Amino acid sequence: MNIEFTAEQLAIKDAIERICADFSADYWLETDQSGVFPQEFVNAICEGGWFGIAMPEEFGGSGMGITEASILCQAIAQSGAGYTGASSVHLNLFGLNPIVVFGSEEQKQRWLPPMIEGKDVSCFGVTEPNAGLDTTSLQVKAEKKGDAYIISGQKHWTSMAQRANKVLLLARTTSKDEVKRKTDGLSLFYTDLNRDHAEIREIEKMGRKAVDSNAVFYDNMPVPVEDLIGEEGKGFHYILHGLNPERILIAAEAVGLGRVALERAVDYAKDREVFNRPIGMNQGIQHPLAKNWMELEAANLMVFNAATKYDAGEECGAEANAAKYLAAEAGYRACEQAVMTHGGMGYAKEYHVERYMREIMIPRIAPVSREMIFNFIGEKVLGLPRSF
Ligand SMILES: Cc1cc2nc3c(=O)[nH]c(=O)nc-3n(C[C@H](O)[C@H](O)[C@H](O)COP(=O)(O)OP(=O)(O)OC[C@H]3O[C@@H](n4cnc5c(N)ncnc54)[C@H](O)[C@@H]3O)c2cc1C
Repeated sequence: MNIEFTAEQLAIKDAIERICADFSADYWLETDQSGVFPQEFVNAICEGGWFGIAMPEEFGGSGMGITEASILCQAIAQSGAGYTGASSVHLNLFGLNPIVVFGSEEQKQRWLPPMIEGKDVSCFGVTEPNAGLDTTSLQVKAEKKGDAYIISGQKHWTSMAQRANKVLLLARTTSKDEVKRKTDGLSLFYTDLNRDHAEIREIEKMGRKAVDSNAVFYDNMPVPVEDLIGEEGKGFHYILHGLNPERILIAAEAVGLGRVALERAVDYAKDREVFNRPIGMNQGIQHPLAKNWMELEAANLMVFNAATKYDAGEECGAEANAAKYLAAEAGYRACEQAVMTHGGMGYAKEYHVERYMREIMIPRIAPVSREMIFNFIGEKVLGLPRSF
């Protein structure tokens, strides 16, 4: 396993860091307080041509892999942009991968260039209030009528829906009791988010205020048959294909956020003097930070191990899940320790670490919970009986 980045990969990191340098910690603090979407930042990433980093070259992308996309996302989060910055571009980087793998040539030509150029804004609708992590129990229905599917039902937590004109949507086309396997009968669409038939209500949430998440109520939304990806009934399998890269990207971002929190904690520990010496001279402050560094760097090795395997076309389910778990937990502990190191000022917004602490909860919960990762590793890696 080669864990050194190539010169080209280091150049990506460098270029993203230069873009991010124009967006200060106060810029991100301001977006967090106002809830205003960081459009200038998204424009800067898009104008640099980065949206297509992992998209095929024939459609205007750069044809690179999840390794490079992870380097990019990590650099964004680590700049202090955190999950507000990373989530504002995340879907453009790899979200449309099911189209790349399973879409027709006509669909790729129709959908990928406008996304890479930043003309289309997409959101991703899988989670539902009554299904949760049990995706095969989702209830949003797509009924075929003539040359359209009619979509009805409720999605939950659809991020970016306030701004999106497109949605990648998983819906049931055949009811669960009519299919052999519960994973069959779900279909994947990429289509216009037609507000005449979709009511979008923002969810007030703990952090990342500037990147909206929403409850979306679909009311007989017509979707042309040309917007069905691949075959009807195979949507769950298509979504599964994109789960590992999504976990890897989120994990890379969690390490990035943990690292910037640690950096702030270390700077503060060097500067802040109490009892006539820097607080960082106390082992009670120093040792937990040393532990955070080790945990973050170990998690990062798993992140790029998973990314390398994915890009090599190898099975990487265990590594991608492990990376997501390890990175989110290491990132969380680093953010928490950064708050504690700052004492009372850790609770003040102007020191930024309380924002990181709220944002680092996201990768602990989404796109899959810790418990479901334990379930996966227990069953698929350790060979224990399925527990759910
Ligand atoms: C900020 C944010 C943005 C999001 N953006 C999107 C998005 O854009 N699109 C989208 O589709 N979704 C999105 N999500 C949803 C996210 O993917 C889900 O919240 C996540 O998958 C967990 O599902 P749930 O909330 O339904 O939890 P539930 O399924 O209700 O689970 C609740 C808890 O019970 C535990 N649990 C359930 N079953 C078991 C079991 N068998 N064994 C052990 N533990 C179990 C879970 O681990 C979890 O801790 C977002 C969520 C957040 C917080």
